[in-house]
Amino acid sequence: MVCIDEDIVSVLWTAEQLLQRVAELGSEISRDFGDCPPPVIVGVATGAFVFLADLLRTIKLAVTVDFVRAESYGSGTVSNGAPKLSCPLKVDVAGKHVILVEDIVDTGNTVSLLISYLEGKGASCVSVCTLLDKPARRTQLLPHVKFYTAFQCPDSFVVGYGMDFNERYRNLPYIGVLKPEIYMAPASS
Ligand code: 5GP
Ligand code: MG
Ligand code: MG
Repeated sequence: MVCIDEDIVSVLWTAEQLLQRVAELGSEISRDFGDCPPPVIVGVATGAFVFLADLLRTIKLAVTVDFVRAESYGSGTVSNGAPKLSCPLKVDVAGKHVILVEDIVDTGNTVSLLISYLEGKGASCVSVCTLLDKPARRTQLLPHVKFYTAFQCPDSFVVGYGMDFNERYRNLPYIGVLKPEIYMAPASS
């Protein structure tokens, strides 16, 4: 049996720490929107799907949920700087407050593109709820956007809890730093 835990250098957040912090974010969102029409939650596939599933169950509001897909990595570990939207929305966001749920905000290019897309669909306001904030390579500052952030992330390539390298490691229940020799190695099947 291939054990994927062996490819991790260090665990940054355990499953228990993730659940606890995600529940705090869910409470904060429930409080902030308690007296407003419920927001539309839009997850960014694929990386945010585990975070979104846990977050959603801690939000005590009549939210609606949809996904968009944005990709900028291919099979590498560095964003190519030009994210592409490849799966448009199904839910109507016109006149609604949208909370965009991301796994990581790194350069900020992906959330920036998606905020423009959602505003173009008529969203009245877009907030961002991100599991990890990785400020080291940020180029899009987005000072007017409200951010809900679970954790500040060091400038390392992390996987687990929905996040991948080359579509693997999403099923790790914790978030860890991937051994550099894994992504430096020639691609294998
Ligand atoms: P951006 O640079 O556009 O802010 O980030 C684009 C996307 O790159 C993030 O949403 C996330 O999916 C991915 N990303 C950034 N840093 C990491 C990382 O350390 N690990 C993984 N697995 N994905 C990352
Ligand atoms: Mg992402
Ligand atoms: Mg990825």
